[in-house]
Amino acid sequence: MPIYGFHCLCGAELDQYFKMDDNKQVQCACGRQMVRDYSFNVKADIEPYKDNTLGYVKSRRHKDQLMKDKGVRIVDKSEYPKHVQEGMNRDLDQYKHRKRKGENIKFYA
Ligand SMILES: [Zn+2]
Repeated sequence: MPIYGFHCLCGAELDQYFKMDDNKQVQCACGRQMVRDYSFNVKADIEPYKDNTLGYVKSRRHKDQLMKDKGVRIVDKSEYPKHVQEGMNRDLDQYKHRKRKGENIKFYA
């Protein structure tokens, strides 16, 4: 699902997940229309890929099946040790900052 970053003239910033509609408008708490800064896909991979744990994954459904077969689950970020969570948040902040400055960088989630 793509994540979008927005900012407002009042200085507010917002990260928002949307399903399909890229043209979604977001209104700030102050009443202004927010401006979109960037977007990137957090997990858009329907393309077949090789996973270190699961092997060859053909689709999301296939992935669910493989995970079930292997008895593994996705670990929620909140289960990570605190210092890892902080590191991830810091990385994301840096990414967003660089993206806002117009750098064309790739994001791997
Ligand atoms: Zn605002």
